Amino acid sequence: MEKRVLVLNLDHSPVAVVTVQKAIVLLHLDKVSCLSAYEFLEVRTVSKSFDYPAVICLNNYKSIPYRGVLLNRNNLFRRDKGECQYCGSKKQLTIDHVIPRSKGGKSNWTNLVTACHRCNVVKGDKSPEQAGLRLANLPFKPSLAYFLAEYAERQASEWLPFLESKIAQ
Ligand SMILES: [Zn+2]
Repeated sequence: MEKRVLVLNLDHSPVAVVTVQKAIVLLHLDKVSCLSAYEFLEVRTVSKSFDYPAVICLNNYKSIPYRGVLLNRNNLFRRDKGECQYCGSKKQLTIDHVIPRSKGGKSNWTNLVTACHRCNVVKGDKSPEQAGLRLANLPFKPSLAYFLAEYAERQASEWLPFLESKIAQ
């Protein structure tokens, strides 16, 4: 399978993920520098072969408007690793407002969690304490680096050293 290439800004904050073809073009245009290459892989053209880039860095700082992780159902499930935050079930997942909407609870990253249908019914219009439920993790707003690190752990360990310092942000 073709590996993806992580693009960092000049300050090493992650900016994008691109295909290897795009990365090679950027390298040839001298827009980026290669910081890390995938081991045991190379890119071949008709006449030559070269390192397969894993992490590239822009040669000029690019001002990029903050692109957070979009708050939607899929990304919420991803943050919560597809598990009910009350009982750990992976079945019949729904989205729960920790502080119910009727009590003024907002629809944001820190008030929404993944919950199975059963826990959601048990919880109803109550707070977790009132319903006798306990959250496995405190809901948080994930950074782009958090999701990239998740991918990196499965597919691209070469990225990890460049993401670690950014994950907590
Ligand atoms: Zn549950």
